[in-house]
Amino acid sequence: MTTDRDATRVVRAGLPEEEAYAPPLPGPVFAAHYHLPGDVADAPYAYGRDANPTWTGLESAISELECPGDGAARTVAFASGMGAVSAVLLSRARPGSVFVLPDDGYNLLAAMRERLVAFGAEVRTAPTAADAQLAQLDGASLLWIESPSNPGLDVCDIRRLAGAAHERGVLVAVDNTLATPLGQRPLELGADFSVASGTKALTGHGDILLGHVTCRDAELADSVRLWRKHVGAVPGPMEAWLAHRSLATLDVRTRRQAENARAVAEALLERPEVTGVRHPGLPGDPMHEVAARQMSRFGCVVSFTLAGKEEAERFLGALRLVGDATSFGGVRSTAERRGRWGGDAVPEGFVRMSVGVEDAGDLVADVRRALDVAAGR
Ligand SMILES: *Cc1c(COP(=O)(O)O)cnc(C)c1O
Repeated sequence: MTTDRDATRVVRAGLPEEEAYAPPLPGPVFAAHYHLPGDVADAPYAYGRDANPTWTGLESAISELECPGDGAARTVAFASGMGAVSAVLLSRARPGSVFVLPDDGYNLLAAMRERLVAFGAEVRTAPTAADAQLAQLDGASLLWIESPSNPGLDVCDIRRLAGAAHERGVLVAVDNTLATPLGQRPLELGADFSVASGTKALTGHGDILLGHVTCRDAELADSVRLWRKHVGAVPGPMEAWLAHRSLATLDVRTRRQAENARAVAEALLERPEVTGVRHPGLPGDPMHEVAARQMSRFGCVVSFTLAGKEEAERFLGALRLVGDATSFGGVRSTAERRGRWGGDAVPEGFVRMSVGVEDAGDLVADVRRALDVAAGR
C-alpha cells in the first residue's frame, strides 16, 4: 500500500540523473521529428507521434508512483483520460469479445458501450457496490472497474474481483482517476491496467487535459502504445511537462484535499436538510470498510443530496469559495448539480463537490452559510 515515502518519491519521480548546470526537470521538448541518421530500428526518438522525451520523463514518473520499486511497470500517456480509457477498451474489442462494465461509472462509459457493441462485442453491466460485477465474469474478456465510482462513490473489493477474473482468464482494468496512485494502487491489487484521467487530481490545477495507462505486462503496455500511435491520441509536450511538474505537489495536495473533504462531509452530516452524504473516508460510510482495506487516501469528492433542483441551485449560487463547475481534483474547490448533464442516475438535488486545498475552517463556514441561504434562513 501507499506509504509516507510517497512524499519523497513524488518530488523526484522520473527526473534524469543530476548533471552539472542542467535543470532538475528538463523543459518540454517540442519536436515533430528528430535527427535520424541511418538505421531506424533502435532509434529511441524518430517521429513525434511515436515518442517524445518529455512524455518519457512523465511516463517513468507515473510508473514509479503506480508501482514503486517495480522496474517493469510501463506507462503510456494520452491526450486525455478518454484517450486512455478508449485505448484499453476499443483496442481489445473484437466480434464476440465480452466486456463487463460498471453501470454507475464515468458517464462516457455509456458511449463506450455503444462503440464496443458496434465492434460486435457484447457488453454486460452491473453496479459497483457489493462486488456485483462478480456474477458477470463467466466467459468475459475484460472487466472494467471504477472504484470509487463517479459520481456515486460506491466502492468494490478490487483484489477480490481481480482474483475471480484471473481465475477465469479475464483481464482487469481499473479507472483510478478519483484515488490517484497515492490513494490506491490497482496493479498491486491485481489489475492488469491502471487507467486514469490526469485532468483531475493527478495534475490538480484544472488547466490541462491528460490521461495514462500503466501495465506491468510489457505486451499489454505495447498494445496500448501502438493504439496511441495509430489513433494519434498523443499528449502535447507542454501538457506532459506541466503534469510532471505538478506531480511534485501530489502528496501535499491529495493529503490536504482528503482532510478537507472529510471535514466538509462531517459538517454536511450535521444538517437535517442534507441527505445521502457520501465520502469513502467517513467512518460511517457504507463503503468505508472496503475502501480502507485498499485505499490509503480517500480522495477529494463528497456527494450529497438537497431537497430538489431549486435548493441545490440556491446552495451553489450562495457559495463564495466554491465555484460552480464540473470536473474534480483541482486545488480550488468546485461543486455542481450533477443532474444538469443527464446520463447519471442521480436525484435532481444531487450535488458533487470537489474539495480543494483551501483552509478547512473557511470551507466549512462557506458551506454552512450557503446551506442557510438555500434553506431561506
Ligand atoms: C474525467 C474522467 C474521465 C475522462 O477523463 P478526461 O480527461 O476528461 O478525458 C474518465 N474517468 C473518470 C472517472 C473521470 O472522472
